[in-house]
Amino acid sequence: MKSKGYGFPRFKKQMKSFVFPAMLKNCLAKDKVKLPQLGWLKIKQSRDYPTGFEARLARIVKKATGYYLMIAFQSLESCPDAPVGKISLGLDAGIESFVATDRGELIKAPKFLLQAQSKLKLLQRRLKHKTKGSKNWLKLQNKIAKLHEKVANTRRDWHFKLANYLCDLTNNIFVEDINFISWSRGIVRKQSLDSGIGQFINEILPYICGKRSKFYLKVNKNGTSQECSNCGSYTGKKQLNERVHNCQYCSYTAPRDVVSAEVIKNRGLIAVGHTVNQNAYRDVLTGFIQSNLFELVKCP
Ligand SMILES: [Zn+2]
Repeated sequence: MKSKGYGFPRFKKQMKSFVFPAMLKNCLAKDKVKLPQLGWLKIKQSRDYPTGFEARLARIVKKATGYYLMIAFQSLESCPDAPVGKISLGLDAGIESFVATDRGELIKAPKFLLQAQSKLKLLQRRLKHKTKGSKNWLKLQNKIAKLHEKVANTRRDWHFKLANYLCDLTNNIFVEDINFISWSRGIVRKQSLDSGIGQFINEILPYICGKRSKFYLKVNKNGTSQECSNCGSYTGKKQLNERVHNCQYCSYTAPRDVVSAEVIKNRGLIAVGHTVNQNAYRDVLTGFIQSNLFELVKCP
């Protein structure tokens, strides 16, 4: 993309994207988008613009495979509150598995994702042996960036499939209200960052739930691994390597993450049974935003 006059954003070394926080009126047309200061830009309109949504912000993103325009659309209507249904599902963001359900399912990240990640590590190790800034270094750098992009796309695709699968199982989904940023700085850093669990729980899952009229609620996270789901007793703190819950009061035994998912479901049912915590619910859905990525066509 060539620079057009003074207004065009420059991509500095560390800058991979440039945001337009506000959008112009009637800024969308077939195969082009009008941006503040830049005017009309050609794009490859790989899909229709969503109907019933308004473009709220745009971001030009530089990726290994070219320049893209990400447009965030916001729903014009407030989302209808999905009613609380009969069937409920508790989900625990696992350490061993990606998520655990209260039905005893331990869902792991698929192999192809792990394979791509180990390939990525291999390339990164190879990069160390190249002279920084050399032709081969740049070549490898570009290869790594492309693979990163592919991993991110594959992961996102799998996240959407998983969210739909979970919605197939139930009417209500209860999850833990985890601050994934501080969580990922801790012991579980590596796994959690690789799998994108935070994005799944906080963005993709509530989005799919909203689309499919499923009730989504975050419940208090405190001590979900220290409580017995069967008798409600406090069973004490567990070490990270203690993978099995064995209640000393009622002798209920099950995988630790499954028990946490059961506790989360119990808490969700209590919240729904009494007054639904409307705030927690609305927090998730007021920003009902859908992002679409379009490839930018180079200016002639
Ligand atoms: Zn118990």
